[in-house]
Amino acid sequence: MTELNLFSATAALALASGVLFAETPLLPGGKWHVHDMNRPVPEVVQPGSCSTQGEPGQPPSDAIVLFDGSDLSQWVQYYTVEENGEKRSKVRDPIWKLEDGAVQVVKGTGDITSRESFGSCQLHLEWCAPDPQGKQGQKRGNSGIFLMGLYEVQVLDSYDNRTYADGQAAAVYGQTPPLVNACRKPGEWQSYDIVFTAPRFKDDELLSPAYVTVLHNGVLVQNHTAFQGPTVWRRLAKYRPHKPKLPLRIQNHGDPVKYRNIWIRPLD
Ligand code: MG
Repeated sequence: MTELNLFSATAALALASGVLFAETPLLPGGKWHVHDMNRPVPEVVQPGSCSTQGEPGQPPSDAIVLFDGSDLSQWVQYYTVEENGEKRSKVRDPIWKLEDGAVQVVKGTGDITSRESFGSCQLHLEWCAPDPQGKQGQKRGNSGIFLMGLYEVQVLDSYDNRTYADGQAAAVYGQTPPLVNACRKPGEWQSYDIVFTAPRFKDDELLSPAYVTVLHNGVLVQNHTAFQGPTVWRRLAKYRPHKPKLPLRIQNHGDPVKYRNIWIRPLD
């Protein structure tokens, strides 16, 4: 393949996934652009067997259970209405679909947000990607876990699904790919065990960034990775001071991803 053809093929692949990396800024370190299709994808690792394929496990005794399969009473959904020409934010009980001890994203209804606010924490959840139905890249089982509502650990069906490395499952979205790809097949339950350290600010100054450690199906995929700032798309992240505790948010990207067994242990 000539250099020109190689570029065209790469650009076509990038365009197919909705992103042309050459137009995005360079990430700190100056090697890769945000969502760079040339960034090497992590090696595939087959996760070992784990309890998530049967019944969900039980939370530890001191965990705050955010979803045990029965109801979404720990969550709300924000939505916008237009009243007298003004847009207003309103809050309601979530209208995601409860079924068989799991909750499924319902397209067009918005994200769900925890009622309670959290800072540093240990978070466990299980998720299941839908039938791909021929979809590829970022259109396949896309969702996300936004720690403090700001810092995304990506949820994506990354089983045999090429996308930009910083956008695949368990990526610190738009910043850091996972160490390996430990994704199970769509339709199978997968687990995330996340240890998150909240950023610290003094007035307008960042004292220490947010950090995240993630085990995907029991495999270490983020090892105390620093967030460069709150998650953004096609741009460089930048910190702005915020409260020490904020609600957790689960992204609605339009795909019917399912969740179950969500619990959290605040680490204050
Ligand atoms: Mg996402």
